[in-house]
Amino acid sequence: MFFDENGNITIQKLIQYPNDDYNKLRKEALKCERCKLRQSCKQVVMGEGSLENKIMFIGEGPGANEDKLGRPFVGKAGKLLNKIFDVVNIERKDVYITNIIKCRPPNNRTPSISEAKACMPILKSEIELLDPKVIITLGSTALKYLVDREMAITRNRGEWIERGKYYILPTFHPAYLLRNPNAKKSVWRDFKLISKAVERINELKNNGKL
Ligand code: URA
Repeated sequence: MFFDENGNITIQKLIQYPNDDYNKLRKEALKCERCKLRQSCKQVVMGEGSLENKIMFIGEGPGANEDKLGRPFVGKAGKLLNKIFDVVNIERKDVYITNIIKCRPPNNRTPSISEAKACMPILKSEIELLDPKVIITLGSTALKYLVDREMAITRNRGEWIERGKYYILPTFHPAYLLRNPNAKKSVWRDFKLISKAVERINELKNNGKL
């Protein structure tokens, strides 16, 4: 019952991270019923990945595959994201990937403001616990709900935004790239910036400055 037909783990509580506060947050999040989305989805999909590497990717919310497997970005958009990581030499396991909302909305509709607000304490805690230097928002929903409702992905994409101690880079969502392959060029530029930021973070870590 913990595995689907492909041998993937379907229940997230099996994963243990070497950080008690994070495990506590994860356990609480998996029980969340703060909004109605939990009534129509199969399970809460928490973020996953490295808690130490100070780089966080934030998408919109789980789709059908994520809802089934209990992991973020494991469907078509996730496969494209994995390919992009490969090209820029980022290992998926070395970054943390999460979403604005943790429960799949019916028919994958955009989450409402009240749903995003209800879910925000989980994302806020993920950010506080991981203390990322760099946050990449994937797509319009993540940009608007995390940074500013007045921002527009087409206008703000590819430029660093400084918010307190966080550097945020908005880029297109991989699902958008699947529909608009012409946008890939811009995303390569963005991922080059991201890959440089990762190098810089690693340098600082290796020099004991982070
Ligand atoms: N799209 C998202 O925004 N997040 C996922 O986890 C999957 C698809």
